[in-house]
Amino acid sequence: MTPPQSAAPPSGRWASALPYLTLPLFLAIIAALVWLTRVHDDDEQRATLINDVLWMEQNIQFKLDRNAAQLAQIGNELLSAERHRPQSIAALRQLTRPENGLVRVMWLDARGNVRGAVPPVTDGELIGETTGAVPAESTFRLAAALGHHVYGPVYEVAGGGHHFEVHVPIYSDNAFIGALVGVYSLQDLVISELPWWFAERYRVSVRDSDGHEIVSKSKVAPLSDQLNYSMAFDPPGSGLTLNITAYRPETRWIPILLIGSIVLLSGVLIWTFWQLRRQLGRRLSAEQALRSESLFRRAMEDSLLTGLRARDLDGRITYVNPAFCRMVGYSAGELVGCTPPMPYWDPEFHEQTREIHDRILRGGSPTDGLEVRLRRKNGERLDALIFEAPLIDAAGKHTGWMGSMLDITEQKRVQDLARQQEERLHATSRLITMGEMASTLAHELNQPLAAIASYNSGCLNRLEQPAVDPAELREIHDKIGRQARRAGDIIRRVHAFVRRSEPKRESLDLNAVITEAVGLIEADTRKHGMRITTELAAQLPTVAADPVMIEQVVVNLVRNGMDAMRDNPPSRRTVHIATHVDGGMIEVRIADKGKGIDPETARRLFEPFFTTKTEGMGMGLNICRSIAELHHGRLSFEPNPDGGTIFILSLPVEPS
Ligand code: ADP
Repeated sequence: MTPPQSAAPPSGRWASALPYLTLPLFLAIIAALVWLTRVHDDDEQRATLINDVLWMEQNIQFKLDRNAAQLAQIGNELLSAERHRPQSIAALRQLTRPENGLVRVMWLDARGNVRGAVPPVTDGELIGETTGAVPAESTFRLAAALGHHVYGPVYEVAGGGHHFEVHVPIYSDNAFIGALVGVYSLQDLVISELPWWFAERYRVSVRDSDGHEIVSKSKVAPLSDQLNYSMAFDPPGSGLTLNITAYRPETRWIPILLIGSIVLLSGVLIWTFWQLRRQLGRRLSAEQALRSESLFRRAMEDSLLTGLRARDLDGRITYVNPAFCRMVGYSAGELVGCTPPMPYWDPEFHEQTREIHDRILRGGSPTDGLEVRLRRKNGERLDALIFEAPLIDAAGKHTGWMGSMLDITEQKRVQDLARQQEERLHATSRLITMGEMASTLAHELNQPLAAIASYNSGCLNRLEQPAVDPAELREIHDKIGRQARRAGDIIRRVHAFVRRSEPKRESLDLNAVITEAVGLIEADTRKHGMRITTELAAQLPTVAADPVMIEQVVVNLVRNGMDAMRDNPPSRRTVHIATHVDGGMIEVRIADKGKGIDPETARRLFEPFFTTKTEGMGMGLNICRSIAELHHGRLSFEPNPDGGTIFILSLPVEPS
């Protein structure tokens, strides 16, 4: 069975493909966002670095310019006055504070001789060393020539450190009167006085023209190789460069957390999507399997010949299959939703059907089914066998009843016909037997009547004699009475046999029935030169049976035996009847010494109307077997070891 493939509509296909397109797009956008944030972050850091460097440069520039201006101002006072004013010295001390970068200020006369210094030069210090010797001279001359302050080259001082000088020329009445020399410590100017936040963020160093680092402010942490900035350090100039490198930027937790959560959420999203896809796949295949299963079941139900009908707990029809509709002749639309009385109930059997219906709803449906008489829509009779089973839903709740219905109308019709035929046959058989028995009856009655007549004439003879012995007369009358009763019995038995059709069971001694039957047939037996011998078991248990029917069986079997021995010599013309108990059954064995039964005859023995006799009916054994089965017994036969056949009638012992 191939279930039809369900083709998804184009819009559905798009809808299902959408997540496959949007998910990568979404992830790409997230990645781009993360990247852009990072780039933006780097740009921002670089911009901040440049701003900070510019700020630093301006700061140094401002400091140098301010110092130069102050030196010029103090220089005038210092060099033009005869005596140094204490305010000027105080101002110089103020100027040589570490935050200004100046470590010493010297004032020189117009010839370049040092006239004083703050702090003063100690004895051990050499002026040449302090002033940088030759280069200092050229700076001095250059400042004098140019008329404004000039920065000298950087030089290394004893004891470590690098210094440079600013020479500020001093004029009085347009005459060069000397210069003030400010000695700067590169370390103090650039590094020591860096604000804490700057020092925290950046590594600052100064390189000479050869690229050697001469001053630095370093930290242990490794440096970022991306964020650095170099610029000419001018003033003081002379090839110095200022290098600023950002320390590894501080871990910025918020964007990291933000990106981390985006990545995590994307991961969860992908996982969820994946799980959803798997579940969807599973659900789709389950749906497909369910659809196939339901189509398979539908096909099965449609092909069924058994009618199916489901009802809820109130008896309302909730489902019928096509076979049920065909049986009753109503469509599913006409039936579903119907409540009792159903349209297919036979009005003649309304009450019985309702009773069965209520019984089923109470759960009292027998497992071997219930027979009901229904009526098709076209008015035809419908005999049905119904099996009911409870309907249990997925939660285990009893929701109704599912009934399967078999149409047994034809079967019933055949059974009825067979029963009628059998009844007719029984009647026919009785009539035939009656006809046969009429002659027997005549013969049977002849005997007692002849005996009565003979006893009567004997009696009359006695009465004519003078001395009549009353005892003798009484004896004769007793015999007459006995013969009359015997005749009456014969007539009664025949009457009962002909009149009765239904078995009338009573507690029966089979030995007694056999004796009766033998009495009935004896005359006929003698007529044909036959003999009946009996071997009846003593203390035989009783059976529950109809005496007349059982008698009929025995008579029939004995007659058949006699018929089979017609051609036998007189010595072999005996029918032997024996009874005995075998387990729970009593067996009556009727053995003849006739011609026996050949296989062909054996095969058809119990068929109705099978006979090998010219005047036979072929119904005897058939009726005998029916009677045996009617009494829950059986009729069988076997070859007689003495020649001939033994017919065995088995009947169950009556339960005590
Ligand atoms: P009918 O006696 O009218 O023929 P039955 O049904 O009694 O009908 O017997 C059917 C046939 O079975 C007989 O015609 C006969 O051929 C065979 N048959 C019955 N009993 C015996 C028997 N004891 N020995 C041999 N054949 C028998």
